[in-house]
Amino acid sequence: LTLFEKIIARQIPADIVYEDDHTIAFRDIHPQAPTHVLIVPRQVIPRLDLATEADVEVLGRCMLAVGIVAKQLGLSGYRVVINNGEDAGQTVFHLHLHLLGGRRLTWPPG
Ligand code: AMP
Repeated sequence: LTLFEKIIARQIPADIVYEDDHTIAFRDIHPQAPTHVLIVPRQVIPRLDLATEADVEVLGRCMLAVGIVAKQLGLSGYRVVINNGEDAGQTVFHLHLHLLGGRRLTWPPG
């Protein structure tokens, strides 16, 4: 199982802020902003560039979950990040969206 599957299965604890049939969202253990939540599809796609046509609904559900979670947590400005591959800093090979907010975010990102 991936680390995030273990969180979904409640084998590893996490601060879960939102769940639906397709996604789960929980706080990042090493937050990079006052609010740093990971939005994770229940279905494992190892990284974004391995997604296929069959994953279109799941991908869309993840994007929709961002807005739901951001509203729930009272975020107005925020950033959504997907790290694809090791060169982008991906460490967990179970697709996830980073939702970052609660502070002024600089551009370009590092
Ligand atoms: P990435 O580097 O894009 O693959 O993102 C993986 C993220 O998972 C990192 O920001 C980690 O801080 C976070 N992370 C690792 N282990 C846990 C955990 N047990 N609970 C919550 N977040 C975690």
